[in-house]
Amino acid sequence: MIAFSLSRLEKEDIRLEGCEPPEFIVLTGAEPFTVTSDVFYALDISKVSGGALVSGGAHVTITGECGRCLTEVSREIRAEDFQLFVEIAPHTEICDISEEVRTEITLALPMNLLCRDDCRGLCPVCGADLNCEKCSCAPPSAQGSGVWSALDDLKL
Ligand SMILES: [Zn+2]
Ligand SMILES: [Zn+2]
Repeated sequence: MIAFSLSRLEKEDIRLEGCEPPEFIVLTGAEPFTVTSDVFYALDISKVSGGALVSGGAHVTITGECGRCLTEVSREIRAEDFQLFVEIAPHTEICDISEEVRTEITLALPMNLLCRDDCRGLCPVCGADLNCEKCSCAPPSAQGSGVWSALDDLKL
């Protein structure tokens, strides 16, 4: 739980730093990755009219298979420089901001995972990893000129 004491916030701004276990992030199960590190956060909390202002960042590592070449990929995901206004109900002492921080990190999670943006993936014919080898199946790039000349033919 990420929380702070309101009586302390009455007196001073609060710096909250720490970590939560990977399960802190709730995945739907449809993501092509899992959370493989603790969730680290560093937050500054100050009192404002009607609530608290929470600003800071959090990061977590996710691991999964590259969507193109199936290599295992780990990536650090950062939710940086977010600012949240948290309403504080009267007569509360502990303000739990777990949900707010969880939402910020969840929004920063990618839809898919690639080992690198220009990953060439696997050859659809023989399954060779085209990032590190050139298979003898005619790769799409080698057919490039052929495609263009085919288009030229069509224009006739
Ligand atoms: Zn890849
Ligand atoms: Zn091939």
